[in-house]
Formats: sequence, structure tokens, C-alpha cells
Amino acid sequence: MNGEADLHAVAAEVRVCKACKLHASRKNAVPGEGPAGSELMFIGEGPGFHENEQGRPFVGAAGKYLEELLGSIGLSREQVFIGNVVKCRPPGNRDPLPEEIQACAAYLERQVQAIQPGVVVTLGRFSMARFFPTARISDIHGQARMVNGRLVVAMYHPAAALHQPSLRREIEADFARLPELVHRAAPPPDSEAAAPPQQLNLF
Ligand code: URA
Ligand code: SF4
Repeated sequence: MNGEADLHAVAAEVRVCKACKLHASRKNAVPGEGPAGSELMFIGEGPGFHENEQGRPFVGAAGKYLEELLGSIGLSREQVFIGNVVKCRPPGNRDPLPEEIQACAAYLERQVQAIQPGVVVTLGRFSMARFFPTARISDIHGQARMVNGRLVVAMYHPAAALHQPSLRREIEADFARLPELVHRAAPPPDSEAAAPPQQLNLF
């Protein structure tokens, strides 16, 4: 399997996709971006005004804040994959509809399979619901849970956190725990965690 080629194939299909009615009002579809080898994959809700203009994810105010959050743990946006639940902008930034999320779901699934990230971070409740359909974000944000053998952490959406000091504190604390989670998911080869288990002395 070639993750980079698979990601390109998904992006090419997304750019011309007409599987739901969001295609009619979009200017540019936003497939998402980042290296196929990313240990971290961030999944937002859907493109907003600026994303629709540029065809790139998280390039408006929420994106600037996401970059700050990444910077707080020593990462740049180029080092992680950043995508969305729906790849085309819902008009007026309305919530994506269930049928739109469903129509777009296979692209997201193929991206996860291509990247095989150690940790998936969902941003906001629509993204969270792909992995934890019945959870409340205020209950589970910041907690890493295994879903199909992969660590998934739900977080508040940066756009929501940006203007609410209490949520801002929460998302910043949740981000601060990410390096440890990534390490847990994929310990570097020379780390203690990756060492073979000590042989059990049975006698
Ligand atoms: N909000 C999102 O959920 N996704 C983007 O790409 C930008 C803002
Ligand atoms: Fe296709 Fe997804 Fe865009 Fe709908 S939102 S047209 S399913 S790429």
C-alpha cells in the first residue's frame, strides 16, 4: 500500500465529486492536506469561507489558532494531516446534514487508511460523532480511547474555543497531552517503551 498515492487519489476524486448537493455551491473542494506518514491526523467539520476560496483546510481564524495550538507542542501544520468530515463548504457555514456526512464518509475513511495515524484528533462534535456517535464532547474531550485499534481523542473545535476562555483553557490542556499520546501510539525505536519485554523468570 502506498499511502501518499492513495491520498492523492482521494484528493483528485474529491475535487470533482458530485456525490452530495454541497458540490453545487462550492468554489473549491477541500480534500485536506499533510504527509501520508503523519502520526497525528486532525479532523474538523467542514470548509468555511476562506477554505472554500483557497481549497485548503483551516486557513481562516480557526486555522490560525490551530497553528498556535500545534506550535505549543512543537509542531507545524506541515507535519500533521489536517482534514474535515465534509470536503465542501456548507452554505453560510451551516451544520453539515446527515446525508452530506454520509456521502463524504468514504473519503475520510480512505484517508485514515492511507495515513494510518497513531492518533486521530477530532475537532468539534460532527467529527467526534464519526468515532463516538453517542458521546458528549464536554464528557470525553481530551480522553484517548481505542477505536478499531487506533487512539482517538475528541477535542473542542478551535473556532468554538477561540472566543470562549473556558473552552480555550480546555483545548490548550488537551493539546498539551498529545505528545505523550503520540509517543504511546508509536514509540521511537530506541525508547524504553519499544524495548522487548523482559523474559519472565518462571522459577
Ligand atoms: N473549520 C473546520 O471545521 N474546518 C476547516 O477546514 C476550517 C474551519
Ligand atoms: Fe462529494 Fe463530500 Fe463534496 Fe459532498 S461534500 S460533493 S460527498 S466531496
